[in-house]
Amino acid sequence: MTPGEKKRKELFDLYSKNWIHFSKYLSLPKEFQGKGLYACPMCLTLFDETGLDQSKERRLTLEDVPPKKLGGKPLILTCNTCNNQSGTKYDSHLLNQTRAENFLRRKEGGQKEVVIQINNKSKIKGIAKNLPNDTLGIHFINKSNPMAQPDIDHLFKNWNSGQFKLDIKGGNPKLFNIAKLRIAYLLAFAKFGYGYIMNWQTQIIRSQLSNPNDAIIEHLGIVKLNFEEDISGIFLVKHPKNIVGFLALFDLMESGHKSKVAVLLPGLHKTDETLYDELKRSSEIGKIDFSNIRDLDYLTDESLCIAPIKFSEMAYSTGI
Ligand SMILES: [Zn+2]
Repeated sequence: MTPGEKKRKELFDLYSKNWIHFSKYLSLPKEFQGKGLYACPMCLTLFDETGLDQSKERRLTLEDVPPKKLGGKPLILTCNTCNNQSGTKYDSHLLNQTRAENFLRRKEGGQKEVVIQINNKSKIKGIAKNLPNDTLGIHFINKSNPMAQPDIDHLFKNWNSGQFKLDIKGGNPKLFNIAKLRIAYLLAFAKFGYGYIMNWQTQIIRSQLSNPNDAIIEHLGIVKLNFEEDISGIFLVKHPKNIVGFLALFDLMESGHKSKVAVLLPGLHKTDETLYDELKRSSEIGKIDFSNIRDLDYLTDESLCIAPIKFSEMAYSTGI
């Protein structure tokens, strides 16, 4: 067995146990209940163990959360269709925008593909990199425009009077944020399993993720928080009461720099409205109080498979 095969099998076994426990709470045809199945957390397509066979057209694949290029590791399985689509639909925007932000904040080592315009004339592609002592390094990709060579030579000979402009392209801001929501949702699935995602409150997230260009969720729950300590994981939001639910905190690592991301996720308490209706209404969220969630076996301990629902109900009824 290759390391990849081993990891896929381990994840299948873990989450299919969780499915056996949680599927009892779902109104599903008998053939889907109490069996060791794995539902892709994005499209909810059900797979039995044959879905691990990588020669199949529809199969289960390892998914890095966050994406590998941003420091993620294989954490869960998603079907090959959802896994492939995430790269093209939004992960590339997440990478591009994070790179652009690190570069523009002049973080040392931050680098970005750029288009360089020399003396308002030739345009040539290149890589710009922040070097020590506040210096900027530029690597011209000569083959992107061989005709620009005389202008480059002229620029180097007349460095003091020369001029160049850098055109830096980031990612689409909306898709950049949708990629963050996807990471948060998958982290909540990794922790709680089907007890979190198979609820009506999270349906809207899957709709938005599968239709990233549609305006389904207006405020995606991405918030700016100041942290005194370096924490990450899934936390329980207790206050303000109108946004009781969960908070995903995670890091994106790029060019050796860490950026912390905070995403609010809907709670599962009984209410007519979701977090997203509330966020749409409130212009300001105010101070968010959240607490740790005990590190228990939410996936395979049968008595804990509806824990995320219980946590949300408790936080909602007690409030602060
Ligand atoms: Zn899928």
